[in-house]
Amino acid sequence: MTRIPDMTSDCANCAALCCIALAFDEGEDFAMDKPAGLPCPNLDSELGCQHYGHLEAEGFRGCVLYECHGAGQRVTQEVFGGQTWRENPAITGPMIEAFSTMRRIHDGIELLTVSERLDLPDSYEAEREALLALYAPEADWTEESLAAFAQSDAPRRLAAFLPRLREFV
Ligand code: SF4
Repeated sequence: MTRIPDMTSDCANCAALCCIALAFDEGEDFAMDKPAGLPCPNLDSELGCQHYGHLEAEGFRGCVLYECHGAGQRVTQEVFGGQTWRENPAITGPMIEAFSTMRRIHDGIELLTVSERLDLPDSYEAEREALLALYAPEADWTEESLAAFAQSDAPRRLAAFLPRLREFV
């Protein structure tokens, strides 16, 4: 059994994970440098963005373009029970790690669900479904299951599988 999660970002239910986890470089899309793992100085006390609604005008077009495909709120709510790294700094590293793995999982789910539309031979379809079962299990993700997923052969299997679909596109 698989469970396809909500793949649309819901910032109201996320602990601003993209605003702490990701690095950006000053340039066309970002008005300043920010290293990975440090909170953006534009975050307000409620983990909202001080530039919300006028990010492009402030030089943060990259933030407008970024889409986590639902990974952020899922890590915050499903894996960490609605906690935030600001309330509980001890979970900062684990949340960032979980967000990194969940982003890869949600990207994988997107690719595997889109490829359902292809006219695949049975053996390919079996592998697509087997991979989807690994990427979109029925059970909730936990820190432990995300860490186990990251160490498993699922990402390698997906990376090997996707290029083989080109002939059916
Ligand atoms: S500028 Fe706003 S949206 Fe962009 S990373 Fe900083 S706090 Fe987040």
